[in-house]
Amino acid sequence: MTSPTAYTPVAGRLLIGGEWQASRDDFTSRNPANLDGVIGTFPQATAAEVQAAVAAARAAFPAWRRTSRIIRAEAFDRLAQLIKRETDALAELMARECGKNITECRAEVVEGLHMVQYVFGKGRDGVYGEVVASEIAEKDAYVRRKPWGVVAVITPWNFPFAVPLWMLGPSLLEGNTCVFKPSEETAAVGQRLIELFVEAGFPPGTVNLLHGSGTVGEALVRNPGVNVVCFTGSYAVGQRIQEISASIPNRIVAAEMGGKNAVIVCEDARFDLAVNAGILSAFKTTGQRCVSASRIIVHESLMERYATAFTDKAQRLRFGEPLDPKNFAGPLVNRQAVEKVLSYNALARQEGVKVLLDGTECGTKGCFVQPFIYLSEANPQSRVLREEVFGPHVALIPFRTDEEAAQIYNATEYGLSMAVITESYRRMRFFRDECDYGMAYVNLPSIGAEVHLPFGGVKKSGNGHPSAAGLIDVVTHKTAITINHGTDIKMAQGLTTAIDGGPA
Ligand code: NAD
Repeated sequence: MTSPTAYTPVAGRLLIGGEWQASRDDFTSRNPANLDGVIGTFPQATAAEVQAAVAAARAAFPAWRRTSRIIRAEAFDRLAQLIKRETDALAELMARECGKNITECRAEVVEGLHMVQYVFGKGRDGVYGEVVASEIAEKDAYVRRKPWGVVAVITPWNFPFAVPLWMLGPSLLEGNTCVFKPSEETAAVGQRLIELFVEAGFPPGTVNLLHGSGTVGEALVRNPGVNVVCFTGSYAVGQRIQEISASIPNRIVAAEMGGKNAVIVCEDARFDLAVNAGILSAFKTTGQRCVSASRIIVHESLMERYATAFTDKAQRLRFGEPLDPKNFAGPLVNRQAVEKVLSYNALARQEGVKVLLDGTECGTKGCFVQPFIYLSEANPQSRVLREEVFGPHVALIPFRTDEEAAQIYNATEYGLSMAVITESYRRMRFFRDECDYGMAYVNLPSIGAEVHLPFGGVKKSGNGHPSAAGLIDVVTHKTAITINHGTDIKMAQGLTTAIDGGPA
């Protein structure tokens, strides 16, 4: 177990144009494993501070854009060294602030490091554009990507280190400048990340930090000085950001949102692998990953055995102190999350499901809830089978044919992550083609991203601009450049160049 070292709460500050502002105590971030524990106090950015941060990013943009892409990338190499130096401290802060187990927090810091290393490597790679042919032999033509300008980065609490880096990394590499608003639940991790950017030598104004609730996020979204909003969070907020942005000229929004993911366990599945994949998908991070599975769709011939083994394993999982690596997972993030999960458990009962494991709240000072597992026939009207719960709440749903399993999988408005457990390549191919998702896993849990793959979903899960490796496309726009090496003008499509009726 990591020693619960003495902890000094963070004094939250905004970073605007390279200047750390005086700290203020407008809101408090607390330890969800023990709500008496204060992680830090933070300022809620005012409208004037939001405006100043956007103006600072805009002022820093021309010089940063003109800096060599390779030199910009090298700042990420310095950042990588700092993240390596700070891995343990960052993981510990994250465990205290968002309640994820220390082993998961460490893995998240490593994921953030991988993103930074990926961005550094991309600096000398060829995604910058492409050379294309021209109809006219004397012409060279190429496509070159240019940065949009100012990128607002608005992120959720559940991946407070890696997700901001998925967005800040590509944005800054490509020459944009950024205003970052971390989740108010994980403001301390957000601030520590930006302190490392400053230490790595990113010039003043290239990265700005605003703290605060959704009100601050919305003021940032409404600011016409922002060219691109990179958002990750719930569907409701992502949809609102897209609606507001629709009335702002030339606004790009990349929105990665919620999920109602599933594991499909086929009749030919390796049984133990299928049980473990279900457990990891449903309960890792206490079910609070966007890719967590709250539905396990099991072939009817296996259901009885699967339900027994799955419930038995879930019962033995240890939910407890996040700093203890022997625990499987920690608490929910806050009291509202506890109320929400318990209300979905109650709704499942009202809908008449068969409860196999009754997840009640446990402990008095933290936000701990035990797994809730139930059997339910497929039911397109059911809210609990369609809506994102974001907690240890999972349905076991039987199916008879592969066609029926795909229908059950698709019977939700989300489409983020799917896992299929099968030994048959034909089945795998069927589900690959028939299900709606952004990420599919075969003989694996529905969780487990790597930064060099695009991360995103369809339907209510995403608007087609995946994060991590996918984000370079969003934070740049393509320009087409055509250069004539001839001594006179020749046009494509046979367009005449004759002027004043004279010969061409
Ligand atoms: P949330 O939507 O409540 O908040 C996300 C961020 O948006 C926070 O920084 C919040 O302050 C800000 N915000 C809130 N209202 C706003 C507004 N009106 N305008 C602008 N910004 C506003 O999400 P959360 O509870 O922090 O995170 C959980 C959600 O995130 C889940 O739905 C989960 O599935 C999703 N998520 C998605 C992905 C993905 O890649 N698809 C990854 C992680 C989490």
